[in-house]
Amino acid sequence: MPPPHVHLNGRLLPLGEAHVSVFDHGLLYGDSCFEAIRVYGGHPAFWRAHLTRLAESARLLDLPDPGAAYWSAALAALINANHLDAAMVRLTLTRGAAPPGLRPGTPPEATCIALAVPPPQPPAASHVATARFHRIPAACLPTTAKTGNYLPNLLSRRGAQAAGGDEALFTDDDGRYLEGTVSNLFYVDPEGRLRTPPLAAGCLPGITRDILLAEAARLGIKVGEHSPTRADLLAAREALLSGTGYEVTPIATLDGEPIAAGPMAGRLAAAYREAIARDAEAAPLRG
Ligand code: PMP
Repeated sequence: MPPPHVHLNGRLLPLGEAHVSVFDHGLLYGDSCFEAIRVYGGHPAFWRAHLTRLAESARLLDLPDPGAAYWSAALAALINANHLDAAMVRLTLTRGAAPPGLRPGTPPEATCIALAVPPPQPPAASHVATARFHRIPAACLPTTAKTGNYLPNLLSRRGAQAAGGDEALFTDDDGRYLEGTVSNLFYVDPEGRLRTPPLAAGCLPGITRDILLAEAARLGIKVGEHSPTRADLLAAREALLSGTGYEVTPIATLDGEPIAAGPMAGRLAAAYREAIARDAEAAPLRG
């Protein structure tokens, strides 16, 4: 059951009274962006970083972001009204309601949604499949924006799930792995270096990815950016997914072939938990 209150366009409402127009261009054209934030012990982890990415997504799509003070007030109201302890919060910003058509006109009022759902439980280890579709490339949409256009992700993930897995990994035109449909990819090469595809390859600048890179540097782990081939992943000492939903999850298989297990995933998972605790201490929720 989702928590009973949502925040919509400046108001906290019971779920049954929160309605979005059938003319909303987010619904009609995918003209929207969003963020997903995990709440641990009532604290929204890495809230500032999520707001920064949301502002950047809005800027890239030319959507009017209501700003940090608005979202922080919405989040505080949502957490308080629903007594949230552990939750996944989703912020959605859409173009708003206007007649169908791509004609210019008076800009509609943006739609701003903040809602919470029970948090997903990541698997102990992930079974991933190569995605059936490619991620929307930078030539079509800025890859640093977290837009509402998730069809390649959805269809690819559904394909992976139908094959008994839980996540799909996108590849580029050369067959190099980029990221998951809701996660970033890390692996440990045979020399022991932790590697992740560069953002320039076209993956989302994951907040968890950033935290793990900073934590790895703090722990003195050698890090490098590289998009792995299938052979790289099969020869890796280990591989893992990072994300707000997946947190830090080791990869057990790729298309049914085993991926080695090692100590890095556990080390990074512990460091990630510590980073969340430090964030809760340093940045309690405020406007
Ligand atoms: N890549 C994609 C395509 C995603 O949707 C997500 C989830 N937001 C991620 C990576 C991981 O990002 P984060 O660590 O910010 O959740």
